[in-house]
Amino acid sequence: LLLLGSICVAFIAVRWSAPSFNKESLKGARVLVTGASTGIGEQLAYHYARLGAQLVITARRGNVLEQVVSKCLEMGAQRALFIPADMASPSDAESVVQYATEQLGGLDYLVLNHIGPSPYRMWDGDVEHTRWLLEVNFLSYAQMTQKALPTLEKSNGSIVVVSSLLGKICGPFALPYATTKFALNGFFGGLQHELAMQKSNVSITICTLGLIDTDSAMEKIKGYINMSAYPAHEAAWHIIEAGASRQSEAFYPWYTFYACLFRDWFPNLRDQAIQNSYTYNPQVNK
Ligand code: NDP
Repeated sequence: LLLLGSICVAFIAVRWSAPSFNKESLKGARVLVTGASTGIGEQLAYHYARLGAQLVITARRGNVLEQVVSKCLEMGAQRALFIPADMASPSDAESVVQYATEQLGGLDYLVLNHIGPSPYRMWDGDVEHTRWLLEVNFLSYAQMTQKALPTLEKSNGSIVVVSSLLGKICGPFALPYATTKFALNGFFGGLQHELAMQKSNVSITICTLGLIDTDSAMEKIKGYINMSAYPAHEAAWHIIEAGASRQSEAFYPWYTFYACLFRDWFPNLRDQAIQNSYTYNPQVNK
């Protein structure tokens, strides 16, 4: 037991002593961030800007992106550009990568963060919505990756994928969303193996996030679950750190790591705990 305990402690300590990252390495780095008009993506853009990166940001609303770009320039970005795009359109996903690569003369970081809006409620049988969401939240990630890989290979670059605890552990009320996050973990986890076997220069970091205090997330969970949300700017910093130090996986906040570690140890208890942590009143929560 003592030996097992020591192994666990050592494992956890190693897991949490993240390789250090040199902030200077991001000065002038060529970064493309998706879903950067609000939430975590916006905070990612501001951190990269303060570190002196060259940025291209994208989302659907050009007028909001324009304001984020101005703030990035004030904060110290070497360059900051935006391109409006709808990730439900395969051609938009490709042209965003093309635009960033041409404007920045290559790419060092592809940060895939956007998500399409999806209702938070019991599944209503709408398969079409799931199909659309897979296009936005998953297929566009694969498409942008395919387009960016040759450039990233030349620059020793990195792909950073923003995923969720709901892509690792099943929960209620967000089935289409969780489906897209499981798909991301499967795809990029597999691609990590393939790139390693091909001795590729490109690293992939998959980030597992818990509840973060963005407006859209707070609005969704209201009335369903009462748990503390962690700050978006801290989540964004954690993501940047993990990408720059080429970690294969990153977890924020701390409990997401332990939730994944112990996920399958006591499945019945786990499922009871998940179901009991939500409020469900068929009259109120549809
Ligand atoms: P937000 O809803 O705040 O931001 C979503 C971004 O995606 C916006 O910039 C939005 O801009 C853009 N977007 C929406 N639809 C499209 C589309 N069709 N094409 C292109 N861009 C689009 O999300 P969060 O900041 O909360 O989440 C960011 C990431 O973090 C996501 O990957 C999410 O899964 C992950 N995460 C978040 C958690 C949380 O609690 N917040 C928990 C776990 C993971 P616009 O409307 O202008 O297009």
